Amino acid sequence: MNSIDEKLQPILSTVLHRNAGEKEFHQAVHEVLESLGRVISKRPEFADDALIERICEPERQIIFRVPWVDDRSEVQINRGFRVQFNSALGPYKGGLRFHPSVNVGIIKFLGFEQTFKNALTGLPIGGGKGGSDFNPKGRSDGEIMRFCQSFMMEMHRHIGEYTDVPAGDIGVGGREIGFLFGMYKRLTNRYEAGVLTGKGLSYGGSRARTEATGYGTTYFVQRMLGTRDMSFEGKRCVVSGSGNVAIYAIEKILSFGGLVVACSDSDGYVVDDAGIDLDLLKEIKEVRRGRLSDYPRLKGKGSHHIQGGSIWELPCAVAIPSATQNELTGNDAKILVTNGVVAVGEGANMPCTPDAVRIFQKAGVLFAPGKAANAGGVATSALEMQQNASRDSWSFEKTESRLATIMHNIHDACAETAEEYGAPGDYVLGANIAGFVRVAEAMRALGVI
Ligand code: GLU
Repeated sequence: MNSIDEKLQPILSTVLHRNAGEKEFHQAVHEVLESLGRVISKRPEFADDALIERICEPERQIIFRVPWVDDRSEVQINRGFRVQFNSALGPYKGGLRFHPSVNVGIIKFLGFEQTFKNALTGLPIGGGKGGSDFNPKGRSDGEIMRFCQSFMMEMHRHIGEYTDVPAGDIGVGGREIGFLFGMYKRLTNRYEAGVLTGKGLSYGGSRARTEATGYGTTYFVQRMLGTRDMSFEGKRCVVSGSGNVAIYAIEKILSFGGLVVACSDSDGYVVDDAGIDLDLLKEIKEVRRGRLSDYPRLKGKGSHHIQGGSIWELPCAVAIPSATQNELTGNDAKILVTNGVVAVGEGANMPCTPDAVRIFQKAGVLFAPGKAANAGGVATSALEMQQNASRDSWSFEKTESRLATIMHNIHDACAETAEEYGAPGDYVLGANIAGFVRVAEAMRALGVI
């Protein structure tokens, strides 16, 4: 691991001690603290009043029981979380993740990342994250609804359009947001559209929100490629995952002239040298809620599915990891570099291990960290909040053009900050510092709270 400034060492020690065993949270804090040494030597005021210690400690952490009845009339118990990390810039904002791997450490790492990501968007949103260890796989619509209703039964007292605005993440899409919003409306007897984002278009959602994370990552990577006079045109790309982020990253890469030859789910990956058939992928994942292993049979010929294995063994010029945290290891990074990868953009949150990031950077590969590259989703959530507050509904074109501008601005802020702090081309440092400075300036102005 890179070194951490000795003034920041005690802060890391406290985080490790206070959050024992939460390894993803440790990893996320470590990565940010690595970048902050340069900030406190240039702007020592940011080390005053335990500001960095306060940034590493969530403002509030809520853990609750979620009881629900399954289709066999059996009572199931899950654990619910909402970590309200930082509200210096606006109401807490961040998604809900429903996945069996969820625990307080995962939610804290996501909430910490979210705080800097949201700051980078330049929009007035603080950072938070939530979710549950509920596994939606194989559950009926009725079970999903009852779970969401029970989850909201507790969460409604902690959220609100000026307090905390959840949205989706892994396992939470339009269907779940609908059930959650319905229950919130019933419990509060208020039509408070701005309390959740990622809503359906029929009840206050924003156009382009579904596409925003994948599109935004692609806009970011396109601009990053541009710094070396390259583009997606004619490039072979691999996108891991096959959820919301991956599908719309693929769509935008295709529109920029790239060729996406593979994507994955938790069972394995599918390779189609002619290019992934986007309509078929959407049909399998969005309509049937099925598995990628069905792809070769439905496609007819020319593609195959690999059970298990690593998608990163496939040669490509651009890699967009869009599945989940730590999915791309140091070993995968070595293979990608040997195979000539020129750019990597994180569509997911922290999908590359610290080793992998170091290998890419050492090899001179353009590397875009998730907190910058995947900020398009939450940025468009903030645009949804704007539309709700003004009781307006924008066209797809207007919303997408706002998204493109925001992504270009985030890219440029990261690149300029890296340059200013003596590490040109280091988007990790640029994103961490640019995000931190925005949050830190607001926190200083608000006093010790
Ligand atoms: N879950 C997404 C993220 O990781 C979006 C959050 C939101 O829209 O609030 O940024």
